[in-house]
Amino acid sequence: QAKARGRGAYQLFEPEMEEEARSRHALEHDLRGALESNQFHLVFQPQVRLASSELTGFEALLRWKHPSRGLVSPAEFIPIAEENGLIVPIGEWVLRTACASAASWPDVTVAVNLSPVQFRSRGLVTLVTSALAEAGLPPQRLELEVTETALLDDSEATIGILHQLRALGVRVSLDDFGVGYSSLSYLRKFPFDRIKIDRSFVGTLGESPESVAIVRTIASLGSVLGVETTAEGVETEAQLAFVRECGCTAVQGYYFGKPCPAADVGRTIETLKAVRRVA
Ligand code: C2E
Ligand code: MG
Ligand code: MG
Ligand code: MG
Repeated sequence: QAKARGRGAYQLFEPEMEEEARSRHALEHDLRGALESNQFHLVFQPQVRLASSELTGFEALLRWKHPSRGLVSPAEFIPIAEENGLIVPIGEWVLRTACASAASWPDVTVAVNLSPVQFRSRGLVTLVTSALAEAGLPPQRLELEVTETALLDDSEATIGILHQLRALGVRVSLDDFGVGYSSLSYLRKFPFDRIKIDRSFVGTLGESPESVAIVRTIASLGSVLGVETTAEGVETEAQLAFVRECGCTAVQGYYFGKPCPAADVGRTIETLKAVRRVA
C-alpha cells in the first residue's frame, strides 16, 4: 500500500500509529523534566509470608503524576525511560527514596525494582552502598528485584554485579518469573533469594490448567532449590488458598493490599497485624 504511493513517498505509519508515536514523543519530552519538577512519588505494596500470615515488607512502585495527563502507568513510561537512559537517574531517585522511607519503618524490608539498563550503567554497586549508608538502612532490609531480561545480555558481567550486591547483604529476587525469556539456567547460575511468579499465571488459575501446572511447578522448584517463592497478583481468597496449597511461601496482591502512599505505610502495618490476629 505504501509502495503504491511511489518512490520517496513511503508512508511508514498508519494514522493511529502516527498518533501513538506523537503521544510517545510528547511523553518522552515531558519525562525529561519530571524528576526535577518532583512529579514522581513512590507507593508501597505489602508482601506477606504465607506460613505465618505475617507482613515481611513492601515493594516500592514508581508513580508519575503528569501535570496535565494525571497518573501515567509505569508500564507506559518505564520503557521510554529505559530507551533514552533516563531510567538511570530516575532509578537512583527510586532507590534513595525507598531506602530513606524504609529506614523509618519497623523491622520490615523494602523491595526495589532494578531495570536492566541500570545494570549496564556503571556504579550500580556504589549507588546501592551509598543509598543504604545515607538512609542508615541495614542491607538485610533491602531487596532488589530484577527481571530475567536484566540477565540476558552480558550475563557474566551482570552475574558479577549480582554477586557483589548480594555480598553487601542485600537480597535479590527474580521478578516476573515465567514470562519473557525465562530460563531455568539463571536459577543455577545465580543464587536468588526469591522467585516472584508473574501475576499473569495467578490471575488465570481459575480458567487455565496450564497456569495451575506452572504455579505448582515453580513453587516446587523453589522448595527444592531452597528459594522463597512469591505469588504475585493474588486478589481472591480462592487464589490465596490455591497458591498456599501449591507451596508458595509468600504472596503479594490486592487481597492483602494495594500499593499505598508512604504516609499510609504505618497504618497498613497495623491493619495487617490485626488481620494476622484473627487469621
Ligand atoms: P512488578 O515489579 O512486577 O510490580 C507488580 C505490579 O503488579 C505493580 O504494577 C502492582 O501494582 C501490580 N499488582 C500487584 N498486585 C496486583 C493485583 O492483585 N492485581 C493487579 N491487577 N495488579 C497487581 P505497577 O505498579 O503498575 O508496576 C508495573 C511494573 O512497572 C512493575 O512490575 C515493574 O516492572 C515496573 N516498575 C514499577 N516501579 C518501578 C521502578 O521503580 N523501577 C523500575 N525499573 N521498574 C518499575
Ligand atoms: Mg517487582
Ligand atoms: Mg512482577
Ligand atoms: Mg514487571
